[in-house]
Amino acid sequence: MPDTMVFKKPPAARDDLKSAIDAHYRADESDCIKRLLSELDLGDQMKANIHDYAAKLVEAARAKTMNQGGIDAFLHEYGLSSQEGVLLMCVAEALLRVPDDDTRERLIRDKLGTADWEKHLGRSSSLFVNASTWALMMTGKVVNMHNIRGRSPEAQVRRLVARLGEPVVRESVNQAMKIMGKQFVMGRTIEDALERARDWEARGYSYSYDMLGEAARTMEDAKRYFKSYKDAIAAIGKTADGRGPYNGPGISVKLSALHPRYELGQVGRVMDELVPRLRALCMDAAKYDIGLSIDAEEADRLDISLDCIEAISGDPDLKDWQGFGVVVQAYQKRAPFVLDYLADMGKRHGRRFMVRLVKGAYWDMEVKRAQELGLKGYPVFTRKANTDVSYLACARKLFANTDAFYPQLATHNAHTISAVLEFAGNKRDFEF
Ligand SMILES: Cc1cc2nc3c(=O)[nH]c(=O)nc-3n(C[C@H](O)[C@H](O)[C@H](O)COP(=O)(O)OP(=O)(O)OC[C@H]3O[C@@H](n4cnc5c(N)ncnc54)[C@H](O)[C@@H]3O)c2cc1C
Repeated sequence: MPDTMVFKKPPAARDDLKSAIDAHYRADESDCIKRLLSELDLGDQMKANIHDYAAKLVEAARAKTMNQGGIDAFLHEYGLSSQEGVLLMCVAEALLRVPDDDTRERLIRDKLGTADWEKHLGRSSSLFVNASTWALMMTGKVVNMHNIRGRSPEAQVRRLVARLGEPVVRESVNQAMKIMGKQFVMGRTIEDALERARDWEARGYSYSYDMLGEAARTMEDAKRYFKSYKDAIAAIGKTADGRGPYNGPGISVKLSALHPRYELGQVGRVMDELVPRLRALCMDAAKYDIGLSIDAEEADRLDISLDCIEAISGDPDLKDWQGFGVVVQAYQKRAPFVLDYLADMGKRHGRRFMVRLVKGAYWDMEVKRAQELGLKGYPVFTRKANTDVSYLACARKLFANTDAFYPQLATHNAHTISAVLEFAGNKRDFEF
């Protein structure tokens, strides 16, 4: 792959659409929500339908999880209270990061051996950093793990080992690791993941594969990630077997993995060095006719991501490929304007974008960053309900523009799912 490539300048974007995006970077939250609510204008009947169907979904999901494996079964099998379960999940998660079996075994012995427990665990409270997340998943509550039931997490685990004995606790940790591995990672290799998906695909599910990894720190990292994406596209492409981007599997690409300086201050290098790499991946995706979506990352990379998307979207060699996808984060105040911009871009290039609407995964980081920089406003909504309103307004926009967009709704929230189904009406030309 050549490292630099010359691109024809793409047709100009409309300035007013770009200005609308810029004007709402850190816009006033109340103003944004008033506008979105008036656009949404859900009638009483629609609200009632959404509510009723959401309740049915929740009841059905609860009935189903009763009979399934996973975290509930784990707690049931080991008879552990959820707080103890949370602690074990934390230990298991830490152990997952250990690459080889031998070291993992020694670490378990080290951490769970009653004699050494106190000595070591007291120093490794970082083991419990994700406790709140686990607690939220397992109990629906945020807990302060520094002081549960008047005891530190370390003391709790010590008590657990003393009460149940080391073998039971070790087995629980092993089980917790298996649950995490299965529930959150599709496979260690793309081939494993494709194999595991096969039965579900037969039942109508389709998959967009995400390669776990960090942003590239060095050019070496970026080259490694590029190769891993390229290999994955080939594997997915062969499995897709010509089903096309809507019915077959696809891939999601993080631009931050393709270049160590994927940032606005380096826009020249990004266009010269990152875009050719992205283009090479898109050419491969087009060859196999699979979907390739650009993941949405931090808010301050939105502008530069739109520049990259514009370059690919307008590339004459990719004009017949309809699998180009973009992820849009509804928690950003700019989201509806990004959709207007993409609709226009698609029109200019004769392209229908696959748009994956998400709420956004970097909320804490966005809030913290704006605070650290002493900024007056946030790029994201600061209330959960406001993000939900924005998501619904954006979903409606997608359904109102299905000539420009193939809607892909990425949500696990029953109310949001129910609302989307209500907006979709009889249309089935979209996916969850
Ligand atoms: C297939 C797929 C692809 C994805 N790709 C991306 C991606 O490219 N980029 C990305 O960022 N995310 C991505 N995500 C993650 C996605 O953003 C989260 O899964 C999603 O936010 C969870 O929303 P929900 O509707 O399922 O859950 P809900 O519980 O309804 O919503 C949780 C979300 O609400 C928002 N929120 C929480 N608290 C607040 C608050 N106080 N104020 C304002 N908003 C708040 C946050 O966005 C949080 O994630 C992807 C998810 C899926 C399933």
